[in-house]
Amino acid sequence: MALRDILIEGDPALTKRSRPVKKFDDRLASLIDDMIETMYDGDGVGLAAPQVGVLRRIFVMDLDDGEGPFAFVNPEIVESEGDQEGPEGCLSLPGLFGIVNRPMTVTVRAVDRHGNPFEKTVEGLGARCVCHENDHLDGILFRRHSQIPLCALEDLPGGEEEEQEQALLSDEAGELA
Ligand SMILES: [Zn+2]
Repeated sequence: MALRDILIEGDPALTKRSRPVKKFDDRLASLIDDMIETMYDGDGVGLAAPQVGVLRRIFVMDLDDGEGPFAFVNPEIVESEGDQEGPEGCLSLPGLFGIVNRPMTVTVRAVDRHGNPFEKTVEGLGARCVCHENDHLDGILFRRHSQIPLCALEDLPGGEEEEQEQALLSDEAGELA
């Protein structure tokens, strides 16, 4: 496994549409392992392949709830329900946060690193993460969805700084990647 460089906003790869994965080989497995390591190293809860310069439809996620990490290859959001408004960040836009509205629950259909299909329903932070990462595969950064101009975490509106720190600790916010 190896750490990969995370591309920063402004890199053209981040605004391109990624292509589906067709080959399920050792190269894919090492890419996924590298992405997981890179996500952990950046303290993110998700990371999409274009963020490491690979324009393929893959993202990884670990919500730090003891269940992950998960790799979603060729993911498709097949159902979404409800909505949530909250702070969001991204490893490709370091130090910048916004307020983004996302569904409360989403069901995503994907295949794993071996090409085996699975379906997963996630809510709360998981739903926010899946939507954010899935957007990366279409070249969309969360800046486009933010209801406010992006700002530093401490400048986010709506609540005392202390509350925001608590929210961060409880994983309601932070670097989604
Ligand atoms: Zn991101």
